[in-house]
Amino acid sequence: MARRLKKLHIKTFGCQMNAYDSERMAEALQPAGYELTKSLGDADLVILNTCHIREKAAEKVYSELGRVRLTKEARKAHGHDQMVAVAGCVAQAEGHELIARAPVVDIVVGPQSLHRLADLVAEAQSTGERSVETEFPAEDKFAALPPRAQGKRQVSAFVTVQEGCDKFCTFCVVPYTRGAEYSRKPAEIVAEVERLAARGVREITLLGQNVNAYHGDGPDRAAWSLARLLQRLAEIPAIERLRFTTSHPHDMDDDLIALFGDEPKLMPYLHLPFQAGSDRILAAMNRKHTAADYEALIEQIRAARPDIALSTDIIVGFPGETDTDFEATLSLVRRVRFAQAFSFKYSARPGTPAADLDGQVPDSVKKERLAVLQTLLEDSRHDFDRATVGRRLPVLFEGKGRKTGQITGRSPYLQAVHVEGPDALIGYIAEVDISAAGPNSLTGVMKSGFEWREPVQAAV
Ligand code: SAM
Ligand code: SF4
Repeated sequence: MARRLKKLHIKTFGCQMNAYDSERMAEALQPAGYELTKSLGDADLVILNTCHIREKAAEKVYSELGRVRLTKEARKAHGHDQMVAVAGCVAQAEGHELIARAPVVDIVVGPQSLHRLADLVAEAQSTGERSVETEFPAEDKFAALPPRAQGKRQVSAFVTVQEGCDKFCTFCVVPYTRGAEYSRKPAEIVAEVERLAARGVREITLLGQNVNAYHGDGPDRAAWSLARLLQRLAEIPAIERLRFTTSHPHDMDDDLIALFGDEPKLMPYLHLPFQAGSDRILAAMNRKHTAADYEALIEQIRAARPDIALSTDIIVGFPGETDTDFEATLSLVRRVRFAQAFSFKYSARPGTPAADLDGQVPDSVKKERLAVLQTLLEDSRHDFDRATVGRRLPVLFEGKGRKTGQITGRSPYLQAVHVEGPDALIGYIAEVDISAAGPNSLTGVMKSGFEWREPVQAAV
């Protein structure tokens, strides 16, 4: 008799690294008979994969747990169990406190222990006991996870290559929740990318909290830099596009910068957070660079790849930030002209040095500064998008559009592009004449006389 598949519901909060971890958790639970469901009410196992970077992100987890409690009770009333696991950085940071505060939670598992999840679920089912696993185990998490399973048809995939951080920016919890910097071995990453290529993936984004600090032990016993790893991945025929995120300005080396000019598969898009434009604030943040260092770096990157789309992260209202400091941030934004940006109000995180600094900025001031900054960033983004109107760009199609007959994909600059075209083009790159820039995306027309280009199949 066929075994009943159990249902797994995963809700992911936060960054792309969490999205990647969620995929790996789903794959790790497949052999135990779990298949994904979008419905919370149908789930035998619920995982909340959480983010602790700002207070708001952490709070969301507790309100979501309130919702999960109601579903769990409703299922129980109908004689069905529901197990609840909290994974990710809130799990790491709060550990036993989560179990104490939220009786609905059965398992707490930190990001470095997610390969143990299937065992923890089995243990909890057999003993009925609640558990907390937030050690930083010495064993290699990635090696212990099952290889990438056959998954849904996917055009673009994330692959985590580096985790943790040794930079200790004074505002940030990452060094505490994700631990010390660690790089996966190139051979392991190449094998994972080859598997993804064989299942139809055409674009890979390498992930790391500090991805450009990557230094993996190569098969030649040398430490491979991110540039070397990207060059190796570019040799995989079916992989047509490579990207990486998030980079720290301090770790942008010359080889990596040169690669933007030399490697056609490396897309012209770079996310390079600068956080603040005032050197006084940058020093208090322990960022290890000045505003002038950042601008010099941008100049070097633009010399290698003049059309590159630059993206960044910015924090407003760091303790001690004056109007003059904030003006320095605006001024840097005006000079660099970002294609994309993520901006945040400073959020004091318990246990980080900046949380105890004098001069905490009132929320009303942070709000005002954020609004001014975001208006400027939006203008800058629209300028970038408008400058692509009239150009012919190669678009990698990822899925159907919202309107019938429309398909949607990404330009090399990571802009969403909508085009009238056949679904059969999904998974392929086609040249598109960009005709208009909307608030969040571009529209275009497929180049006339377009011919099919079969992607090269990977032999795995
Ligand atoms: N490693 C990246 C770097 O060096 O810039 C950033 C990783 S962090 C997960 C993503 C972004 O969250 C940061 O760039 C920063 O702008 C923002 N962030 C981190 N801690 C924050 C805090 N306490 N308050 C507000 N924003 C914060
Ligand atoms: Fe956090 Fe990035 Fe600074 Fe590391 S480099 S502490 S991840 S902001």
